[in-house]
Amino acid sequence: MKIALSIGHSPKDGGAETYDKKYSEYSFWKHHLPLLQEELQQMGHQAPIVNRFDAGGTTPGHAAAACNSTGADLAIEFHFNSADSPAATGTETLYWESSPKGKLAAALVNDAMVKVLELKNRGLKPVNRHSARAVSYFAKTRMPAVLVEPAFAASNPQDNERLQNRVREFCVEVARAINEWKP
Ligand SMILES: [Zn+2]
Repeated sequence: MKIALSIGHSPKDGGAETYDKKYSEYSFWKHHLPLLQEELQQMGHQAPIVNRFDAGGTTPGHAAAACNSTGADLAIEFHFNSADSPAATGTETLYWESSPKGKLAAALVNDAMVKVLELKNRGLKPVNRHSARAVSYFAKTRMPAVLVEPAFAASNPQDNERLQNRVREFCVEVARAINEWKP
């Protein structure tokens, strides 16, 4: 199986910054996704790491194009969350509402993230054409797709510590979850 691991945002627009200003969304996942890639490769999968910038732009539609160019069976885009209130906490996963296989992948990955991070389970968030975010990513990916928001690392200090301290275990458990999914 081939899984496209898509780094959220881009070198030009890094997305939100962690609470400690150590990473942007882009730099965090650029730094840590090779471990997830390695775990998946050890299970016999291919796991190309891609970014929207590879497809010549900085939009979610470019992220979809970068995933499509790999011919992957599944695409996962990695972010972390931000809120105005430092009290906002937890793990959530977005999927395309009309894709049962996308929903199954989202459920497996969300469970794995909750198990590792032990933050509030905010659950699965369906995206459709009327949603406020990530619509073009989901509308344009040709394979089942998932977008993860494991923690409010930008706005909640505990969420940030949890994600950074447990990111190795995160990669191991997310790889196990993906391995349970069937195209
Ligand atoms: Zn983001």
